[in-house]
Amino acid sequence: MLNKTGVPTRVQVQSVFFNEVTLSSFKAVIECYEDIPCNPCALSCPVKAITIAPTLHSQPVVDPDVCTGCSICVSVCPY
Ligand code: SF4
Ligand code: SF4
Repeated sequence: MLNKTGVPTRVQVQSVFFNEVTLSSFKAVIECYEDIPCNPCALSCPVKAITIAPTLHSQPVVDPDVCTGCSICVSVCPY
């Protein structure tokens, strides 16, 4: 669906959101659903809350316990 319409599926969207019970402040929600070689978000994060592993093609994952909600990663994302 994403490749044809540009719209992610409900499952894809739900996969990147956090359990709201665990949240106490703003957190980055990275809607990056394709295995592309990209990492400005991870490199820019001042607290290293974003992990892209095991390869550069892996999708970024945010640790909500580390993210401060500064939004720097959002501003540097080319997509
Ligand atoms: S919002 Fe800030 S702290 Fe959170 S993942 Fe993005 S750059 Fe890192
Ligand atoms: S910078 Fe944007 S497109 Fe690149 S990995 Fe991060 S979220 Fe995905």
